[in-house]
Amino acid sequence: MRRWKGLTAIFIIGITFFGIRALMLNAQEESKNTYAQEELSSKTIEDFPSPIQGKPLRVAGEYYSEELGTTLFHSGTDYAQAEGAVIRVKHAGRVTYAGPDPFLGHKVEVDCGEDWGVIYGGLKNLRVKEGDWVEADQAIGQIGYYPDIFGDIEQTHLHYEVWHGDLVQVP
Ligand SMILES: [Zn+2]
Repeated sequence: MRRWKGLTAIFIIGITFFGIRALMLNAQEESKNTYAQEELSSKTIEDFPSPIQGKPLRVAGEYYSEELGTTLFHSGTDYAQAEGAVIRVKHAGRVTYAGPDPFLGHKVEVDCGEDWGVIYGGLKNLRVKEGDWVEADQAIGQIGYYPDIFGDIEQTHLHYEVWHGDLVQVP
């Protein structure tokens, strides 16, 4: 009888030991996976919030332009903003273009690395030039007034695009 109890105790200890060990291995495996995912990078659209928040005037998509008589692809999101408002980037990166654009007034393109890029249009008084490195919160220009080629937006606004590779990212 006493021997039987002893065996049961060993059996229970054994099960507990293997159970805890399995849980520990599982936890290790999970933390390894999380680490691997972080290492692969990966930035998402969430890492590139627009400097202006709120309900957009227009989102990315196809639009018919009466003026040009053709369908155009609007590749950004437009946020109403007062003329003259200073625009500050929310991320670091290298300026790959800063100057006039036939559709967007003045624009600034920033390469954020890992194939991510952001374009700011509808600007004037640019404060950066091609080749500059920008840090988060750095001012790049002010909102200008530009007639909207897609039609009906009269209000001054920031035109904001996020690209990953060849694909426009829609928040
Ligand atoms: Zn736009």
